[in-house]
Amino acid sequence: MEPKVYINGELYPKEEAKVSVFDHGLLYGDGVFEGIRCYNGAVFKHSEHIDRLYSSAEAISLEIHLTKDQLKDAVINTLEANNLKDSYIRLIVTRGVGKLGLDPFNCETSQIIIITDTIQLYPKELYENGLDAIIVQTIRNHSKALNPTIKSMNYLNNILAKIECLNAGAAEGIMLNTDGYVAECTGDNIFIVKDNEILTPPVSAGILVGITRNVVIELAKEAGVTVKEVQMTQDDLFEADECFLTGTAAEIIPVANIDGRKIATGKPGKITLSLLKKYQELTSSHSSL
Ligand code: PMP
Repeated sequence: MEPKVYINGELYPKEEAKVSVFDHGLLYGDGVFEGIRCYNGAVFKHSEHIDRLYSSAEAISLEIHLTKDQLKDAVINTLEANNLKDSYIRLIVTRGVGKLGLDPFNCETSQIIIITDTIQLYPKELYENGLDAIIVQTIRNHSKALNPTIKSMNYLNNILAKIECLNAGAAEGIMLNTDGYVAECTGDNIFIVKDNEILTPPVSAGILVGITRNVVIELAKEAGVTVKEVQMTQDDLFEADECFLTGTAAEIIPVANIDGRKIATGKPGKITLSLLKKYQELTSSHSSL
């Protein structure tokens, strides 16, 4: 069956799913998006992703011409049309077709695109052994330039950091903020464990407020582990007992070393592995039934 892509209320075969070259999403990266997972036929944290999408849109004065419930239905209908029970969903709202020139308000109407695809995961052995990360030179966007809480289509800040880490042979790049504190990775949030407490940078460090981050914080609290949102330096990372990353695609992935320095023994830690297990239990028990 040929995959179908939703564009503004219609489903198109993949080959015919096209947008105009005058769409400001293409011309200027003017738009917002979400990456969402569907497990066992149920969309994971659907409302949370839809809420974040609308917040991102509001932050850039972009109107979405559907209610939140209508948009959720559109996501579910697209999954059904593609007969997908386990999927990675890319939900995009672009500014739409307009004239050349930045003015977003000359664009006709925003475009809603829903792509449902299979998920590209990190190799299994990285979940078992941990991945290699580096601290990149590219600074995370300043929140007064392009606030990282907005999940916008303008991802060059992260792509430049990704190029750096790939060129260095690392799987992920850890980005610092303009004050030199740890912010997040190119496509994941970061956590460390120190003396049996879980620490993660606060929203004020300039991060995307990850849906997975929020789930992990809840799971840790339920398990009675203290979670603190604190500013952290790169030395805090090097001195950590454990380190792991979170994201919709990655879920929870241990970090074995940073800049070639082992994190503790260089093996995934106890708390990381227990959270990973809890997360997998949560997603595998998650079902539309
Ligand atoms: N930070 C950045 C920069 C991201 O792009 C993402 C999503 N890929 C995350 C963090 C993790 O967010 P979530 O858990 O909502 O996927």
